Amino acid sequence: MQNKSGHFIVAIDGPAGSGKSTVSKLVAEKLGLLYIDTGAMYRALTLKAMRQKLNLGDGDELTELARSTKIDLQSISGKLKVIMDEEDVTAFIRTPELTNNVKHIACVPGVRHEMVMLQRDIGKRSSAVLEGRDIGTVVFPDAKFKFYLDADVEERAKRRHIELTAANQKINYKDIKDDVVKRDASDMNRNVGALKKATDAILIDTTHLSINGVVEKLLKNIK
Ligand code: C5P
Repeated sequence: MQNKSGHFIVAIDGPAGSGKSTVSKLVAEKLGLLYIDTGAMYRALTLKAMRQKLNLGDGDELTELARSTKIDLQSISGKLKVIMDEEDVTAFIRTPELTNNVKHIACVPGVRHEMVMLQRDIGKRSSAVLEGRDIGTVVFPDAKFKFYLDADVEERAKRRHIELTAANQKINYKDIKDDVVKRDASDMNRNVGALKKATDAILIDTTHLSINGVVEKLLKNIK
């Protein structure tokens, strides 16, 4: 999507651990674009549903929750903050329990509809890099630049393990790998907004690439 003022969208999709978040942040920084982590939005809503002890199998209740919740992403001193109903929830949305529960929220059509509307709205404000699962296929199918990042499951689990260990979360590699495999299955097999490569997205296998190597590849395609 590009209008007369030069406004454009960079869509970056891919499975958990493919390097999307780190790469998207760096690409946005280098190009001076807004960075939108759409996974953080689904996570914030999951946090609210868990706090309210909602039935995670009740799609109507979850859709109502999505309609009545305000989610915003703000960049403060170079760090992305996730604001839900005026509260900074950034520190609470990456626990293993929550990560495991996002799938119940992410498969509800009404919830996805609200999130997609919100993401389109934010993306309209200025040129932006959006990362997620359905950006190039559903949210911005006309995005000017589309990428699909992927990597071997072992490598993705290894990356998650390093990340979680650095964040003092003690989980063994095997449990992380099982979780990555399960998340792939639920992300790829849901009926709405399923994870898949847009036919016109550029596929980048990040298994043997450094972060900078991936960033360079993207920038080369964008420039
Ligand atoms: O990107 P991240 O791993 O933080 O996303 C958390 C979860 O949110 C994913 O496993 C996926 O189920 C869901 N998600 C989604 N659509 C997006 C972004 C994330 O369904 N656009």
